Amino acid sequence: MRYLSTRGGLAPTAFSDILLGGLAPDGGLTLPESYPAVTPDELAEWRDFSYPQLAFAILSRFADDIPAADLQALIDQTYTAEAFRSEAITPITPLSDGIWLLGLSNGPTLAFKDIALQLLGNLFEYALLKTGGHLNILGATSGDTGSSAEYALRGKRGIRVFMLSPHQKMSRFQTAQMFSLQDPNIFNIAVRGVFDDCQDVVKAVSNDAGFKTHYAIGTVNSINWARVAAQIVYYFKGWLAVTTHADQQASFAVPSGNFGNICAGYIAKHMGLPIRRLILATNENNVLDEFFRTGVYRVRPTDQVAHTSSPSMDISKASNFERFIFDMVGRDPAVVQELWRQIDVQGYFDLSATPYFQTVRESGFVTGSSTHQHRMATIRRVYAESGIIIDTHTADGIKVGLEHREQGIPLICLETALPVKFEDSIVEALGRPPERPTGYEDIESLPQRFTIMDADSIAIKDYIAQNTG
Ligand SMILES: *Cc1c(COP(=O)(O)O)cnc(C)c1O
Repeated sequence: MRYLSTRGGLAPTAFSDILLGGLAPDGGLTLPESYPAVTPDELAEWRDFSYPQLAFAILSRFADDIPAADLQALIDQTYTAEAFRSEAITPITPLSDGIWLLGLSNGPTLAFKDIALQLLGNLFEYALLKTGGHLNILGATSGDTGSSAEYALRGKRGIRVFMLSPHQKMSRFQTAQMFSLQDPNIFNIAVRGVFDDCQDVVKAVSNDAGFKTHYAIGTVNSINWARVAAQIVYYFKGWLAVTTHADQQASFAVPSGNFGNICAGYIAKHMGLPIRRLILATNENNVLDEFFRTGVYRVRPTDQVAHTSSPSMDISKASNFERFIFDMVGRDPAVVQELWRQIDVQGYFDLSATPYFQTVRESGFVTGSSTHQHRMATIRRVYAESGIIIDTHTADGIKVGLEHREQGIPLICLETALPVKFEDSIVEALGRPPERPTGYEDIESLPQRFTIMDADSIAIKDYIAQNTG
């Protein structure tokens, strides 16, 4: 399996050589030259597979330059009942007749990003041990991604993490999750400022090419291909859990932000998984819903991004979307380059009058969005009907999923975070906080380890230099 770039400027490259990277050198995103096909016989054979077996069956096709025994060992080491709280890893629960909840948030930070990032941490360590290299991950977070990355990379050899977060602006739970880590390779920097200040510092440091190379600065953002690949697995797992025959279809409802999660579902469908509808749900930041309805992809200026009660979906643009558009325009990199040039000069592109939009309409996507009131009502409704408390992101997916539900087609709603991460919203919806999973009862009282700094890229570069010696 070789990888290419959506902008056409990458010679076919092996999995291991794109693993540690973010954007391709030409500014595009990496994708396999073609999607491996899964046959109905294979689907039948996979029915009894454990999560690690299934992950190996799928990921070995994408990471075919990692020796099979090594890949199996990395997968076995990642998807354990200890790390994900059950052998199932992604347990399926009925909500009501024909409607299912696929639990993706039982990893260490209680959000679905753990599924990909826990594997990524092990893959990174493996790759660096092979080459003798090291990597200093630099990131900015307002909560979720940062903690997932830290829990994936804590204690890994050859890797340090420098994570910037806005001082005293995260929830107490999220702050405690990150700052209670005592691993010496994790550096939490609480920046005096807001999230955008943190991001500006990361950009300034990354734009210093000399510093970036000398200190081997890397990232773990959502455009990393291995993250998308790891997420393909649970679409198969979910489908296998609710069907009995290879010709049965199921639909998936996916709360979406950067289009990473649902991009994996789209690829699973291309591989031959009988997915009927990919139901894409956005919150008030409806960039993607708008595109699928109108053909216009209009990036929002950052000051127009609404701060919502599903904050992990508050995006101005969807960083993985270019992968999907590349396929929709017949994998022509010149068209992709032109569309993203239009975004740079005018802030949008419009496919509505092109034949590409017909391809988009036939791709299996349907969309919708939710408001805060919809999410509150959905949390109450699901709780009343099933006794299950869902978080605000999952509520967004279920709200839109139910709008597109079809008789006789199982609907699998992806649970992307546990409600405990968004306690205030649950109290608002239900009048009481959700129960905390074991091990998290007292997390706010654990000792915390962090450094407070100004949003000053020179001072932060000094700090990185001092701590990488
Ligand atoms: C990141 C995140 C999402 C959005 O996922 P994308 O891959 O960016 O579309 C949804 N819900 C939660 C809880 C998240 O952390």
